[in-house]
Amino acid sequence: MKALDPATFEPAVRPTDDFFLHVNGKWIKENPIPPEEARWGSFTILNLEVENRLKAIVEEMARGNFSAGTAEQKVRDFYLTAMDMEKLNALKTEPVGDLLQKINDIKNKEDLAEVSGTLHRSGFGSWWHPSVEQDEKRSTLMTLHLYQAGLGLPDRDYYLNDDKESAAIRSKYKEHILNIFKLADRGVSAEKIMEIETALAKASRTRVELRDVLKQYNKMSPAELQAITPNIKWDRYFASCGVAIPEYLIVGQPEFFEEVNRLWEALPLDDIKEYFSWQVLNGAAVFLGKEFEEQYFDFYDRNFKGAKEMKPRWRRVLGVMNWALDEILGKLYVERHFDSRSKERIRALVEHLIEAYRIRIKNLDWMSAATKEKALVKLSAITKKLGYPEKWKDTEALVIKTDSYAANYRRAFTFEFDRQIDKVGKPVDKDEWYMPPQTVNACYNPTLNEILFPAAILQPPFFYPDADDAVNFGGIGTIIGHEMTHGFDDQGAKFDEKGNMENWWTDEDKKLFSIKGESLAKQFDEYEPLPGEYVNGKLTLGENIADLGGIMIAYDGLLLALKKKPQADIDGLSPEQRFFANLAVIWRSNRREELARLSLKTDPHSPPEYRVNGPLSNFEEFYKAFACRSGDRLWRPESERVKIW
Ligand SMILES: [Zn+2]
Repeated sequence: MKALDPATFEPAVRPTDDFFLHVNGKWIKENPIPPEEARWGSFTILNLEVENRLKAIVEEMARGNFSAGTAEQKVRDFYLTAMDMEKLNALKTEPVGDLLQKINDIKNKEDLAEVSGTLHRSGFGSWWHPSVEQDEKRSTLMTLHLYQAGLGLPDRDYYLNDDKESAAIRSKYKEHILNIFKLADRGVSAEKIMEIETALAKASRTRVELRDVLKQYNKMSPAELQAITPNIKWDRYFASCGVAIPEYLIVGQPEFFEEVNRLWEALPLDDIKEYFSWQVLNGAAVFLGKEFEEQYFDFYDRNFKGAKEMKPRWRRVLGVMNWALDEILGKLYVERHFDSRSKERIRALVEHLIEAYRIRIKNLDWMSAATKEKALVKLSAITKKLGYPEKWKDTEALVIKTDSYAANYRRAFTFEFDRQIDKVGKPVDKDEWYMPPQTVNACYNPTLNEILFPAAILQPPFFYPDADDAVNFGGIGTIIGHEMTHGFDDQGAKFDEKGNMENWWTDEDKKLFSIKGESLAKQFDEYEPLPGEYVNGKLTLGENIADLGGIMIAYDGLLLALKKKPQADIDGLSPEQRFFANLAVIWRSNRREELARLSLKTDPHSPPEYRVNGPLSNFEEFYKAFACRSGDRLWRPESERVKIW
């Protein structure tokens, strides 16, 4: 198969009017979304391929006999136990019976903190969310963070907005609550749960507000936290989480915790107990019997994403295993499916990108020499993690049995929770991977100043081990460039080369940078993917800066590579044109309207078509490659084109 086939493009759409559709229009028409999917495109198709390989691995284990404690035994028993629907149906809510009993036994409000900790350590939500991360201002040290949480709907706005759609979702949510309790043979007042969550929603910051990292950094001693939340017995919370009382912690949204404190006093104890039970039942639904899972799918996947059918059982289970047995499965995956030749070629590609970025920074006309120098230091300090970890996570102590799916999930969750809690107050382990190698994704981590590319994304159409440089720079090159630029987007730019939240900009540079960001946000605010519904330029700003910068850097990286190894036209396309075409290919996708709508509210990334057309409408090299001129739909006057990096 060709790495890029112009015969699959859509001739009816001119590249300079809508480049995304020019490359993908025909594909979009010919590849409807399968009923079990909410989106269908390059990412999901590759993901399914990876899942099929994992399935082969898992089924091979399922046929074997292995001694207890081996990776193979864990994979085998997790999978077989989860696939046994008959057993799951018969168990009903028994796998979480101990937690429901514990909630039922709460005698007074002083117990609430302890039970919250138990739920958090067992894999269930409630009120807030604990996590162990680097101290953003002292990035060598791991600290406990507490963040706003506790909502069953995907965004606070669903509770608070007046529009018809939000009202309809609220009434469906209440039905969902009633149905889940009914399956557990219990009655409930959905109204009361809704009241609690609405109060939490009101006290929650918006997604745009959460993007201001400095505002989420509130360092407190346990005594200070106790002083603003006298009703929450934090010592009992820490004890049930298994953490010693920390010297200090980072509280994301102090006013949210004050509201929880107020609710604990104001609400009748029975209402709070009901809310706890709801957290457990809703959180466990996908691990319980068929009816629970169907109810959960119906509300969350059908409603918000538009999926028509559940994925086959093995895929649902694998989705959980990829999390619960992350590196255990990942190691088995890379042993069979990762070509080490890829690593070398990608390493070379990354070097070209860094060189291209370095030259771009040096040539910026808006940045002062002092800030440039620091940007270059930060750029050279980026850690690159490619393929799979050098050192695998120690999972020997993780126990997987055949008692129940939920019990295995809970053991895996508690194992990971304890592993995280154990890090509090300790130095950072820089070798750890925050995404297992079988993930079709990539990330930049600002507090580590690192980019991470798992083995599973280093494959076609993102990366072809044997194709020309142009398609690879347009594919994985733009993704790597994107992740690198996150170190310099409106959030990443607040962290220094060591991952500390510290200002390294002059005031003037910061001002010019934010003016550029504002122009880009304005451009995206005008995109209207659904009638009357617009992209949120502020919510998507970081990702849009990364897309724009990533493409420019990858393009320059390609030019550097071509200087060393020139490339002739292939199938009538110049290397430059092939670069842009594969960029469009990696973002090709069909999405259901429900998912498109949900994403506009919750996803910091722009819709796929704008991740291509948006940046290209600002990029003069694209104009040159396809002779884009005034009158073409992608054309912008030079004064309106945004260039940041
Ligand atoms: Zn990103």
